[in-house]
Amino acid sequence: MLNESIDLSDQTAVVTGASRGIGKAAVKRLAKAGANVVLLARTNSDIAELSEAIGESAFSQACDVSNWDDMEAAFARAEERFGSIDILVNNAGIIEPVARIEDADPESWGRVVDVNLKGVFHGIRAAIPYMKNNNGKIINLSSGASTSALEGWSHYCSTKAAVFSLTRCVHKEYSAEGVRCVGLSPGTVATGMQETIAASGINPVSQLDWSVHITADVVAEAIVWLCTDAAREYDGTDFSLKTDAGRMAIGLVRDV
Ligand code: NAP
Repeated sequence: MLNESIDLSDQTAVVTGASRGIGKAAVKRLAKAGANVVLLARTNSDIAELSEAIGESAFSQACDVSNWDDMEAAFARAEERFGSIDILVNNAGIIEPVARIEDADPESWGRVVDVNLKGVFHGIRAAIPYMKNNNGKIINLSSGASTSALEGWSHYCSTKAAVFSLTRCVHKEYSAEGVRCVGLSPGTVATGMQETIAASGINPVSQLDWSVHITADVVAEAIVWLCTDAAREYDGTDFSLKTDAGRMAIGLVRDV
């Protein structure tokens, strides 16, 4: 499936939530396409290990995306190290704790807003100054939850809907200055987040058989493809891997 023709050499990609799941797969795929990669997550040991395995073209930095100072500093260090920031994968996200609204702890609900929404805004806010008039590309991890209501996921649905709105706002404000922004709705993916969902037992997604989830590597393939000019028609929208058109675009004609 690997699209060998995608070449991202001389480009630097910042990936949030790079320690596991989709973020980790994205880092490996972007590095394979020739990009410099900047790995951000809270757990420094995990990203440092992956960064060392990739070598000189990788750099890791502990960063809590909900903290603006962390994010601003990480981007400054990345630019200092590689000289440009061309791609941002706004991937860090959480869904815990899954709970119906009357059972939700307000502080925990707000923490999801801090990570899933404010974290994405912080990434965009930090990236735009480096990307303006420089062919920048921002990919926001979205979800079917951005347009659907699911029981127990009020925090997640609300924040993903708001991220979809942010994608459109960035497109509105910065496409004329060469910054591309697109959402990526992957469907269900075999990562730790799906383990959390399955353990919750709430709503039909928690009941899905593990075999229906796609792999994080497939999502990573979509991420590198979205960095190419071929994906321009999706700018300002949510690109979905659940549609035939989306699967065909990245070279998956049938079920993933
Ligand atoms: P995951 O396996 O749980 O990984 C989440 C990543 O986010 C980890 O690297 C984690 O690292 C990082 N993270 C969490 N809080 C953070 C914070 N405050 N600051 C920085 N990093 C933080 O999740 P995933 O399934 O790969 O999901 C990645 C993205 O895809 C999320 O935005 C999710 O909503 C979206 N998505 C997932 C699915 C799915 O089925 N899995 C479907 C649709 C959309 P640390 O804990 O080390 O910080």
